[in-house]
Amino acid sequence: MKKIIAGLVVLVLGTGMSAAAGLDVSLSGPQAKNDYGSGKIAYALTNSSGTTLHVLRRQTPLGGLTGKLFDVTKNGVKVDYVGPIYLYLPPTAADYVELKPGETLATEIDLTAYYDMKGGGQFEVRYARDARDVVKEAGEAAKAGVTAGYLDFDRKGAASIWVDAAVDALDVSENASYRGDAGFKAGAGVLAASNTFEMCTTTQKAEIASARIVATNYARDAKAYMDAGKRGSRYTASFGGYNENKYKTIKGKFQKIYTKLSSKSMIFNCGCNGSDAVAYVINSAPQIFLCSPFWEMGIEGYYAKAGVLVHETSHLKDGGNTDDVNPLWNNAYSYHGFAVNEARLD
Ligand SMILES: [Zn+2]
Repeated sequence: MKKIIAGLVVLVLGTGMSAAAGLDVSLSGPQAKNDYGSGKIAYALTNSSGTTLHVLRRQTPLGGLTGKLFDVTKNGVKVDYVGPIYLYLPPTAADYVELKPGETLATEIDLTAYYDMKGGGQFEVRYARDARDVVKEAGEAAKAGVTAGYLDFDRKGAASIWVDAAVDALDVSENASYRGDAGFKAGAGVLAASNTFEMCTTTQKAEIASARIVATNYARDAKAYMDAGKRGSRYTASFGGYNENKYKTIKGKFQKIYTKLSSKSMIFNCGCNGSDAVAYVINSAPQIFLCSPFWEMGIEGYYAKAGVLVHETSHLKDGGNTDDVNPLWNNAYSYHGFAVNEARLD
C-alpha cells in the first residue's frame, strides 16, 4: 500500500539585499510516481540572485550524503542518522560548484539509505545547513561582518514525505512470498531468516528480500537433488565425474548454503559504490556487499540477483566456504550454476 503525500516547501535565503546572495532551497517528495513511499526527496538549489554563487558540494546531497545534511523527524522526534560521516580537509576552489544567476542544482536522494526510517510513516525533512557553510559568498559576507539574519536559511518550513515501511521492519512471515515469472513461491523455511541491511535504500532492501527468497528456492532444489543421490547431467555439467567423497562434500556444502539462506541471519551491504564488481563477500565480519551492476539485474536466473546471492552465500564461511577457482567441488561458479540450473538439466 502506498500513500501519496508530496509536501513542497521553499526555503528562501533572505531578500534583504537585492544584488547580494539569493538562494532558494526546495525540498519536495519524489518526482516519479513509482517512487512515492520510497523515501526519496528532490532537492533543488536555485540561484535567484543577479550574481554567480559558489556552492560547496559536500554540503549538498549531490553525489550522496557526506554527513547529516538533513534533520529528519517523525512526530516531532528526531530520526537517527545512520549514514557515513566523512572527514574532509578545508575546501579548495575545486570543491565548489558554480551556480550562475537563474541556474539550479538539483538531485534526488533516497533518505532511507541514511536515516533510520525503516518503520515507515510520515517524516518531516529539513535541510540542516547554514548558508554560510554552503555558499562561499555568504561565508565571506559573514566574515566581513554582514548581519547574519539574511545569511541563514529559513528553517521554519520542511518537506513532508510518506515512507513505506521497509521489509526488515515487518514480521518476515508477511513478506516471505515472492512469485515471479517462473512461479516460485517461498517455502516455510524462509520464516526464521532475517536480513540486516547496511547502506541500503528501502527499494534495495525489498529487492534483496525477494532475491533471497528465490535464492533459497534454488538452494532447496539443489539440496533435494543431492539428498536424493542423483547424478544426472545437471551434476556432471557443474561438478564433473562422480566419486563418493566429492559427492558427499558437495552435498554438505549445499546443505550449508540452504541452511544459511533459509534460516540464518545475513548482512547485506549496499555501500559498494563505484566498484566494477557485482558483489563481494567479507568473511571477517561476514557480509555480502552488493555493487552497482547488481542493481541492474533481474531477480531470477544465473546473471541475476538470486543467482548472485547463491554464489556469494557459497563463499561465506558458514555458507559453503567456497573459492572462485577449481577444483569444481569448491568453486562458487559450480554451485551457482548447479543451483540456478538455467539449462534445466536433470
Ligand atoms: Zn565468487
